[in-house]
Amino acid sequence: MEDKINHENTNEITCPYCGYKIGDSWEYNSEEEGEINCSGCSRKFNFSVNITVDYSTSKINCEELEQKEGHEYKTERYYKYTKDYKNGEWITLPEDDYKYYRIEICTKCDNVNYIDITKEEFDNTPISLKQ
Ligand SMILES: [Zn+2]
Ligand SMILES: [Zn+2]
Repeated sequence: MEDKINHENTNEITCPYCGYKIGDSWEYNSEEEGEINCSGCSRKFNFSVNITVDYSTSKINCEELEQKEGHEYKTERYYKYTKDYKNGEWITLPEDDYKYYRIEICTKCDNVNYIDITKEEFDNTPISLKQ
């Protein structure tokens, strides 16, 4: 006889003999796998539980945190700004007009901050952090 009852990978435990669906299948966990009595045709059948898990993630939004913990900034690098964009072209600034920044990124939400720093602070930072 052709098996017309859909009883594999179903949302509910479904009797392979009569197609009866157990309405509270979620009550059966994998520890109870094995034989079960059909409430429809009273026959015994085997059941097993297939669990699929998927995951979702999202970045933490510091501003929306209830605790108002705020950002947790970590210095990413230091940057020397030697050019300025004026009237449609890049012009190199005289050295006295260089601007120095410390760029920090929040480890929780990726928010970026540009902090003005002095030439002295820039000069005293490790070269590996400079761009
Ligand atoms: Zn049945
Ligand atoms: Zn943040």
